[in-house]
Amino acid sequence: MESATGERLIQLPESMLHCSICLDMAMDAVETDCCHQIFCETCLSQVDKCPSCRKSNFVSRANVFARRVIGVLPARCPFCENVVQKDNLEEHIRVCDRRPFYCGAPECHFAAEKEAFLTHLISTHQEVFLRTYKKIFPGLSGETDGYLVINVLSLF
Ligand SMILES: [Zn+2]
Ligand SMILES: [Zn+2]
Ligand SMILES: [Zn+2]
Ligand SMILES: [Zn+2]
Repeated sequence: MESATGERLIQLPESMLHCSICLDMAMDAVETDCCHQIFCETCLSQVDKCPSCRKSNFVSRANVFARRVIGVLPARCPFCENVVQKDNLEEHIRVCDRRPFYCGAPECHFAAEKEAFLTHLISTHQEVFLRTYKKIFPGLSGETDGYLVINVLSLF
C-alpha cells in the first residue's frame, strides 16, 4: 500500500483537473459528451454552448475519476492553515478551532475566533444574553453567571 500522503501516486498534470471556464480546480467535475473537457458543474450549467467546441445541446455527465482525484488532493484550511484532503475539508472546518463564529445579534456583524467571540458576547451583548438565558435558567444574574452560561454553550 502507498502512504496516505500520496507521495508515490502517479503525478497528473494539474491542468487536467482544471475547469476550462474558471480555470480553477473543477468543483463537482463534469465532462461534455462532445470534447470531454472537464468543467465545474456550476460553471457548465451557466453556458448553453460547449465552451471549447461551441456545440449546442451538448450533454454533460459527472466525471467520477476527476472527482475522486480532486477529492484526495491536499487542501489548506483557510482558518488554521492545516492541510487536509479536499474531501475532508468541509468536515474539518466544522470542527476547526480557528473557524470564525458569527454573532447572531441583530445589527451586529461581528465575526471572530471562538475566544474573541465569547468575549464579544459578554462585553457587547451581556444584557441581551442574560435576558434571553434568564428565561431558560431563571436563577441567573450578573456577569459571573453570564460567563457560566457562555462556558456551557462553548462546549457545543
Ligand atoms: Zn469552473
Ligand atoms: Zn465540445
Ligand atoms: Zn482549520
Ligand atoms: Zn455581536
